[in-house]
Amino acid sequence: HNCGHHEDSGVECTGGNPVRLVGGTSSLNGRVEIQRNGVWGTVCDDNWTPSEAQVVCRELGFTGGTAHSQAYYGPGSGPIWMDDVNCGGSESSLSSCSHNGWESHNCRHSEDAGVECGAPIAGSTYSCEASVFDSTGAQVYYKQHQGDGSSSPFPNPDIVSVDTTAGPARIRFQED
Ligand code: CA
Ligand code: CA
Repeated sequence: HNCGHHEDSGVECTGGNPVRLVGGTSSLNGRVEIQRNGVWGTVCDDNWTPSEAQVVCRELGFTGGTAHSQAYYGPGSGPIWMDDVNCGGSESSLSSCSHNGWESHNCRHSEDAGVECGAPIAGSTYSCEASVFDSTGAQVYYKQHQGDGSSSPFPNPDIVSVDTTAGPARIRFQED
């Protein structure tokens, strides 16, 4: 399955600068990327502390916020949009924290900032989807689930059975 926060579902806020996590091991961690004028770029690790990491996590609907520096999740590409970011920690979005000014920096992508977040904030929403493909690569099953941070969409996505005897395949997932 492939879980992500509602920010990933195509919701676009006019004038906003959405953030995403790239190159991590799950939707909870990765290199921080922020969008400006439709272009995704990275954030420099200068002054990258838990305060800044917490704001990114909260913006994505997650708790926690461990800061990683030195391209911990691999270097990005494209513009380095933010440098010397300074958040108080209670901001609702990374773009509302002070910084040098868009694309004004003295950094390289080897200094791209990353974060590791905790569990989703209770009450926040997420969208989760699962797909199953047959041996020819055709998609035979698709399930989308939306919920909030108080529940888990596919706690254990192991497939229990696949029944193709009557039309479309019917897949049962084990959910605890
Ligand atoms: Ca640095
Ligand atoms: Ca700097």
